[in-house]
Amino acid sequence: MNHYDIIIIGAGAGGGTVAYSLAPTGKRILIIERGGYLPKEDDNWNPEAIFQGRKYQVEEQWLDHENNSFRPQAFYNVGGNTKVYGAALQRMREQDFGEVKHLAGLSPAWELTYQDMESYYTRAESIFKVHGQKGKILPNHQCRRNILILRCLTNHGCRK
Ligand SMILES: Cc1cc2nc3c(=O)[nH]c(=O)nc-3n(C[C@H](O)[C@H](O)[C@H](O)COP(=O)(O)OP(=O)(O)OC[C@H]3O[C@@H](n4cnc5c(N)ncnc54)[C@H](O)[C@@H]3O)c2cc1C
Repeated sequence: MNHYDIIIIGAGAGGGTVAYSLAPTGKRILIIERGGYLPKEDDNWNPEAIFQGRKYQVEEQWLDHENNSFRPQAFYNVGGNTKVYGAALQRMREQDFGEVKHLAGLSPAWELTYQDMESYYTRAESIFKVHGQKGKILPNHQCRRNILILRCLTNHGCRK
């Protein structure tokens, strides 16, 4: 029987990052992924197919807190959600770790603080080669504009 020191369930952003970080330790690592490989095709980069068409999304139904069924925005494949995600990797703000009042209710404070996470953010940003203007958070209209630019480039044949 094969022996593994570490078994990681799921090859998404979390599992993939853990595997990448542990690889230099020389430990025997097994990654178990329930999905296959996403076929490489134009729709991989097509926001209409991914968001409106729900292409690649799981077919199963989950239940919300009122027992209503819904189709989750989840993707079972090697790479998990990162195969279709927007690649905008922003840190949470310090105040996001505290109690946050939303329209739909109150989100309780985390047990962790921003300072607890800071070194991990820095490490993850190095692994994912995150870049941009430090300290600058894009206002919503600018994010929307960037999405439209990306969509326009995609429609004209540009690829990530
Ligand atoms: C369309 C879209 C756009 C997004 N854009 C952004 C963005 O711009 N910036 C951002 O920060 N985040 C974005 N996100 C969110 C981000 O992609 C996710 O938060 C992140 O990928 C979650 O990583 P994860 O490893 O926790 O889960 P996942 O990426 O979902 O990975 C979980 C993996 O585990 C596998 N799995 C599940 N159950 C089992 C099982 N029982 N056995 C074996 N394998 C199993 C799944 O198949 C999957 O591959 C986006 C998400 C979507 C859907």
